[in-house]
Amino acid sequence: MKQKLLAKTIICHYDEIGLKGKNRKFFEDKLRDNIKQKLDENFPDSAARVKRISGRIIVNLAKPADENEIKEVLKNIFGIAYFAFAVGCEQEMGAIKKTALEILSEKEFGTFRISAQRSKKEFPLTSQEINAEVGEYVLENFGEKAEGGVRVNLKNPDANCFIEIVDSFAFLYLEKTRGAGGLPVGISGKVVVLLSGGIDSPVAAYYILKRGASAVFLHFHSIPFTSRASLEKTKELAGILSKFQPETKLFLAPFSEIQKEIMKKSPPKLRVILYRRFMMRIAERVAEREKALAIVTGESLGQVASQTLENISAIEKCSELPILRPVIGFDKKEIIAKAEEIGTYDVSVLPHEDCCSLFVPKRPETKAKIKEVEKAEEELDIENLVAEAIKNLEAE
Ligand code: ATP
Ligand code: MG
Repeated sequence: MKQKLLAKTIICHYDEIGLKGKNRKFFEDKLRDNIKQKLDENFPDSAARVKRISGRIIVNLAKPADENEIKEVLKNIFGIAYFAFAVGCEQEMGAIKKTALEILSEKEFGTFRISAQRSKKEFPLTSQEINAEVGEYVLENFGEKAEGGVRVNLKNPDANCFIEIVDSFAFLYLEKTRGAGGLPVGISGKVVVLLSGGIDSPVAAYYILKRGASAVFLHFHSIPFTSRASLEKTKELAGILSKFQPETKLFLAPFSEIQKEIMKKSPPKLRVILYRRFMMRIAERVAEREKALAIVTGESLGQVASQTLENISAIEKCSELPILRPVIGFDKKEIIAKAEEIGTYDVSVLPHEDCCSLFVPKRPETKAKIKEVEKAEEELDIENLVAEAIKNLEAE
């Protein structure tokens, strides 16, 4: 029978742990949609057809695209455990054997194995039988009798030929590429990430996206006290983080009026804590608008004066929403390594004036007492200040 090669095909696998009942379909549909969205965005001419088949997502590109470029896109899509560029053929042993030979002949190898996986149990051969028959065929063609003959090595082969029997096709490939793992963005609900322009908050955003939350970003700036540098940096950071989720929104909140009031009326040592409490209140309003269920920060325990347990506690008491801190237990070094890996580090270290380092005393409070903080806030028109910031919120 004449072998029929299909268009460029990619098989995406996910981990099935915990995927039961309704959750499973929700997970798979979201992953499929996220893959389709990113491929269409990055390869508009390839017209990706993305289907969910037997515990996998199968992508068919009408017009083949560069594998390395596709890798760069797929490796940032959470929920994919691994993916492979495959050749599809008819689900018939003659075609499978020929395709195996074809893809193996593109590679230099001395030892090989065949690793078949049969999702369609009606296929007449078991996985073991497929391995044996295809292996035999490869040996007949490339084996010891051939020049520079090859051998089977099950433990540590130079070439591993994977065969997946799925639906009405067989898919063959030699290489698996590790995916980002995690859960498809969007299945865990939405969060508001406080994005500062520093190193830590983009990494916190990465980790919360990895667990399937979609994120809107919120940045506070102190223009005209500071330049536009923090805005430009944060826009760039949000752009980099957008490769991990289908849609990205950045809100910019003016903070200088609030800082002026705090400066005028509050004890200097409490300033940072008061700034932070205002940020939480504004974040809560944004969350309400955006139907987000939590606030995320890049705090790491003990890293700076405002991140002691006492201060974290005084800061979070003004928010009804859970405040999540994905990097709370990370050392700075670990956060930096991750920031480098995800591509945010170089932007984060560009110089900018941080709104929270403005008007802050040399020795800020490290053990804030909530009573003192609340007393200081009695002097401030909280409602009005928050409403004004929300009114002047800009969306990017
Ligand atoms: P980062 O590197 O994320 O700036 P940091 O170590 O500098 O963190 P802080 O400046 O104390 O720590 O900020 C703690 C967290 O508060 C940040 O990770 C961020 O989530 C939030 N935050 C601080 N400043 C801002 C800002 N201007 N806009 C939005 N969020 C902010
Ligand atoms: Mg900071």
